[in-house]
Amino acid sequence: MKRIQKLSDHLVNQIAAGEVVERPASALKEMLENSLDAGASKISVDLAQGGIKLIRVSDNGSGIAADDLTLALDRHATSKIACLDDLEQVATLGFRGEGLASVASVSRLTLVSRPQGEPHAHQIVAIDGTLHPVEPAAHPEGTSVEMVDLYFNTPARRKFLKSEATEYAHCAATFERIALAHPGVEMILRHNGKVVSRLPAQSLADRVGAILGRDFVDASLIIDSAAAGLSLRGLVASPTFSKASRDAQYFYVNGRFVRDKTAQHALRQAYRDVLHHERHPAYALFFTLDPAGVDVNVHPTKIEVRFRESQAIHQFLFHSVHKALAASAGNNATAATP
Ligand code: ADP
Ligand code: MG
Repeated sequence: MKRIQKLSDHLVNQIAAGEVVERPASALKEMLENSLDAGASKISVDLAQGGIKLIRVSDNGSGIAADDLTLALDRHATSKIACLDDLEQVATLGFRGEGLASVASVSRLTLVSRPQGEPHAHQIVAIDGTLHPVEPAAHPEGTSVEMVDLYFNTPARRKFLKSEATEYAHCAATFERIALAHPGVEMILRHNGKVVSRLPAQSLADRVGAILGRDFVDASLIIDSAAAGLSLRGLVASPTFSKASRDAQYFYVNGRFVRDKTAQHALRQAYRDVLHHERHPAYALFFTLDPAGVDVNVHPTKIEVRFRESQAIHQFLFHSVHKALAASAGNNATAATP
């Protein structure tokens, strides 16, 4: 019989990375969320070969103290929560302390940072689980994370990567989902040296227009609804704009893009009378509620959430959108009557 042994930290990280860093786009998501959590007002992303060769995310956020650089790459090390109460009230995108550790275990990672107000930057390099000593570096205030050669040391996973074009498309989608929810943050995306997207700090409507198209904005109704601590803001397309696919469904809970059955069902129902059943409504909706009312710690990538009061939330979402659609249909009917 084989004896039981403890796995090395490096192997534990590599196993966990399978959940957190499924593909380049998931590494990009972790990095972008870190930049936002650091309060950045400007973020630039450089990708090479669909993100498989390189992902570099640079921000002008709070930065990381030189003494914390090593810890930042450690698993379960985070500055965002410290106790169970914090977890229940969590307002940051990250909190599990797994992002950088996971990315570092399956790529060659360089983390460079200069905290706000500090005269010097420092960097740390991690290759195949080995951390090199922290050393001085050149960098403006803020942080850059550079991930090179994703899965170079885990060939079995590397085989699951799709073509460069497909991986790039996933990265671009991740960039857009995050950009949509943070219109006040200037964001730039480059792929293989070319600028693909340059988004200035702008209003929500302009950001939605830049990402989903001006025609979407022009054909949309504004949702701005609040009740009993719940709020829903954003744009829903009028039924005539509906898409044949679910591509244009952006739903956020407390700033986080999620796929949620309750929300999808409520919104679908809201459109029931006005939309052919084979068509899909298009929307960019931002739902906020007390963090204690939603568990975001259901899935390692936090794509799913669990609502405590899902019945009440279903009703609120349904009514908010249904009311707006009915009012607009009513207006059109009135306008058509001589
Ligand atoms: P988490 O985001 O869950 O805390 P990560 O592994 O993604 O875990 O990051 C670990 C820590 O490193 C963060 O808690 C934060 O303190 C720091 N950090 C990571 N990226 C940045 C960044 N871009 N700017 C400032 N601090 C960062
Ligand atoms: Mg993180």
